[in-house]
Amino acid sequence: MENIISFVLKVASRCNLNCSYCYMYNLGDKTYLSQPKFMSIETIIVFAEKLNDYCQKNNSKFVQIVFHGGEPLLWSKDHYRQAIQIFTSTIKNVKFDFALQSNGVSLDDEWYTLFQELNIRVGISMDGPKKHHDRYRVFHNGKGSYEQVIKAIDRGKQYGMNNILSVVNLDISPAEFYQEVKNTGIPGFNILLPDGHYDNLPENVEKQRINTLHYTPYADWLIEMFELWKNDSDRPVIRFFQTIIELIMGEQTGDQMLGRLKNGVAVLETNGNLEVSDSIRACYEGITRNDINIHTHAIEALHEDRLFDVFFNSHNMVNDKCLNCSIYDICGGGFLGNRYSNDKGFDNPTIYCHDMIKLVSHIQNDIINSLPEEVYASLDASEANYEEIVDEINEEVVVKTDGEIRNKLKSFSLVC
Ligand code: SF4
Repeated sequence: MENIISFVLKVASRCNLNCSYCYMYNLGDKTYLSQPKFMSIETIIVFAEKLNDYCQKNNSKFVQIVFHGGEPLLWSKDHYRQAIQIFTSTIKNVKFDFALQSNGVSLDDEWYTLFQELNIRVGISMDGPKKHHDRYRVFHNGKGSYEQVIKAIDRGKQYGMNNILSVVNLDISPAEFYQEVKNTGIPGFNILLPDGHYDNLPENVEKQRINTLHYTPYADWLIEMFELWKNDSDRPVIRFFQTIIELIMGEQTGDQMLGRLKNGVAVLETNGNLEVSDSIRACYEGITRNDINIHTHAIEALHEDRLFDVFFNSHNMVNDKCLNCSIYDICGGGFLGNRYSNDKGFDNPTIYCHDMIKLVSHIQNDIINSLPEEVYASLDASEANYEEIVDEINEEVVVKTDGEIRNKLKSFSLVC
């Protein structure tokens, strides 16, 4: 895949929640303040025309459009009706996937009915049991949003809502978290590792111990969760685990965090600016900003942006350690934003490097051990050993990152 196939539309630049870990409002970037509050229909019209040109020229047959924010439910219902009509009538010979990611607090029957009518898949962000969710996902007055979100999730079942998105929180036990998600009765969810980088680590991560042999807090949490999930005969889909399993089995898959595919994701801001995926903003103020705007540029212009170049190719533009790591095809060097440090830019393995080695080794060994002996014997496979892989990446590198790629990765350093 060499094209951008997923466009995240920031239809509202403000939010009715004030989540403490939010990359837009509480981590390193305040540029949303200069954005209009809402995307205009004029911008949708121009974007649809340019997207049609892009799809025809690049022979794209599939496009995903994700309505996002801020909180996308601050946009009006009439705007959604108009936008879907504009996309489907302007962009020819393309299969669409319309999706929306909401904080859930305003999702009532009227919204669900509209999204069902417009064929927009709804996802809701939730952070586990009430006491934890309410610590992070709060209204501007500091009050937690759990009650509203659980009601929205419950209501969503009758409309086929099947996607909950959660950020891993080490303060919640995996068992408590898994049970909470199971209790919702929703058949699918995904988990994300927290945003953060070497100079702005997620809460609870100890800077001195990061990527040392015996410090793998996220792997330990995720392995416990994987075991609960695997042993549950009525388990929901957990996309993160599913993708790792598919990659271990050799499938061509992946996303911004995993695998070796290109990151064909772009963000359209409320004012029409076209940029890199917005969670990169947690690196530093303004890192994603450029002068590319849909009102004055073609979508192809984004491929000329130097941050987009690194982001799009991020699973192939990696640090030396990744090139010498035996789980590189699965980890892909991790999410670009998690590789950042002020002194080396993106020329680092992810802050979750050792966690990924431990988790992937565990899942790989679990798959191998579940195979019948004769099948295992016929495969050219051996069990993965966490310590050995860590040794491997810490030895003198055999394969080195190409000089031009290294310069691109380092060029985002704040000290060069
Ligand atoms: S586990 Fe570490 S070294 Fe291996 S590919 Fe991932 S980030 Fe790179």
